[in-house]
Amino acid sequence: MKELVLPLPDEAATVALGAVLAKACDRASVIYLYGDLGAGKTTFSRGFLQALGHQGNVKSPTYTLVEPYALQPLAVYHFDLYRLADPEELEFMGIRDYFAQDAICLVEWPQQGTGVLPEPDLELHLSYQDQGREAKVQAVSAYGSQLLDRIYGPQE
Ligand code: ADP
Ligand code: MG
Repeated sequence: MKELVLPLPDEAATVALGAVLAKACDRASVIYLYGDLGAGKTTFSRGFLQALGHQGNVKSPTYTLVEPYALQPLAVYHFDLYRLADPEELEFMGIRDYFAQDAICLVEWPQQGTGVLPEPDLELHLSYQDQGREAKVQAVSAYGSQLLDRIYGPQE
């Protein structure tokens, strides 16, 4: 599995990582966002959404579970499954319809949806590193791997 480790010394670096990935995604894709509370999952999502033209704030949809953004070239669905009690709830909210669309799905706390969520193209693992953060980006699908090649060049 292709994996990159990127230092994110400050918030701007997390935003920039979101922007770079957003600009590279040119088809429906799924990105899982792992990391403790405050690790930067929503900050990354804000960078991603703003790079596609979203103006203004991005809040984790902790209570609504998903926030839709009608953007070009693709719609983005931003999920936060932190408060999901049971992955079955995702079936009730029609999760399959979201993932069947020509859209990008960003999913915070994907481990809460195990067994119901589709496999991602990329996984981002954010962790605390001194005053900043560190990102591990893993390609899961062939498309995810292409994305990383396109952005960072082929890794040995
Ligand atoms: P999460 O969604 O993972 O709970 P948030 O993105 O809501 O985390 O919050 C992350 C907090 O950490 C914000 O206050 C943000 O400004 C800050 N932050 C984000 N990225 C970095 C970074 N690379 N270095 C330092 N602080 C960061
Ligand atoms: Mg969040």
